[in-house]
Amino acid sequence: MPVVGMVGGGQLARMTQQAAIGLGAQLRVLAASPQDSAARVCADVRIGEHTSLEDLRGFVKGCVVVTFDHEHVPPAFIRALEEDGTACRPGSAALLHAQDKLVMRERLSAAGAPCPRFAAIPADTALAALEAFGRETGWPVVLKATRGGYDGKGLWILPDAGPATAELVDRLVDEGVALMAEEHVPFRRELAALVARSPYGQGAAYPVVETVQRDGICHEVIAPAPGLDDDLAAEAQRLALDIAARLDVVGLLAVELFETEDGVLVNELAMRPHNSGHWTIEGSRTSQFEQHLRAVLNLPLGSTEPTARYTVMANVLGGDDPDLYPRYIHVMAHDPAVKVHFYGKDVRPGRKIGHVTAMGDDLDEVLERARHAAEYLRSGPAMKETR
Ligand code: ADP
Repeated sequence: MPVVGMVGGGQLARMTQQAAIGLGAQLRVLAASPQDSAARVCADVRIGEHTSLEDLRGFVKGCVVVTFDHEHVPPAFIRALEEDGTACRPGSAALLHAQDKLVMRERLSAAGAPCPRFAAIPADTALAALEAFGRETGWPVVLKATRGGYDGKGLWILPDAGPATAELVDRLVDEGVALMAEEHVPFRRELAALVARSPYGQGAAYPVVETVQRDGICHEVIAPAPGLDDDLAAEAQRLALDIAARLDVVGLLAVELFETEDGVLVNELAMRPHNSGHWTIEGSRTSQFEQHLRAVLNLPLGSTEPTARYTVMANVLGGDDPDLYPRYIHVMAHDPAVKVHFYGKDVRPGRKIGHVTAMGDDLDEVLERARHAAEYLRSGPAMKETR
């Protein structure tokens, strides 16, 4: 069986390992430490840094294809691997659009994909550029680091061009953070369209989901997005498949979307298994992790047919009490149909340590079950339901 290399040892690689077992594929993971989430479960782990070309070159030897559990490998290193003859899927040219928000905005808007208004914020005229953009779109304005942001880090919502903004912008420019601005989109809700594309050109689309963020972190995902207009759902799937083909993405592509009064706008792209697709482990015939492996191995893609009317995934964040085992037992006893996933990570407040999935016909009931399990795992009965 061919060896697939995955750079990064986080929970996405861990859950990809789970899918690789079923497929009989061999996964090799490049992890920073033996304690990494995936390093704890993979048989073939190499310890090294994704920021070292030497480590990457050593890692890829013997892999038929290399893929990624995160976006943080420097683009020049992926290009160097490609020049060595390594098949990187997605390739460096595609992946750049998931690594650099400004490159992505420029490319997608040139291709006619619906995007929020945006502007580059050059370091030497940052505040003036931001003020000019704010005059054009109105405030608040969303300031973003073009690279390296995740879970809401690297994003600032600025109410005006006052002294606090000037101070922040000065600091970021001094730190060498490349910046861009976006209009603050008054969205109704956030959606995600997940698709897969193989080198052969086969595409597969999952049902469009609703994602709920809290403090910049994905909190829960409802599949399919309730009440979403059929035409808009089909348009979002087409948009995602079209972006995948246009950028020559191989593997998964998650397109994060804003639903507005006038349709959808693209927020950002991820080219790997995505938090908005964890529900597919139980909620779809083919999990996103299996689909990613099938796509990067150029195998026929699997069916994306849902297995339940509604599937809700809720992330489990670490709470103040790291001893969650008693709560784990309670959640399983309370609702044997809720599926609990843990990532083998140490519990720290606010850290994503796992997720739960509930399925059924009655959305309110399914939501309640998933929320109860996630909240209870975090903090037990003392914590009141916050929603
Ligand atoms: P990250 O790279 O940290 O995931 P995102 O660009 O996805 O950052 O933004 C994180 C969250 O911030 C989004 O899910 C959304 O809730 C909010 N957000 C991002 N861009 C905008 C925008 N232009 N207008 C309004 N809200 C935004």
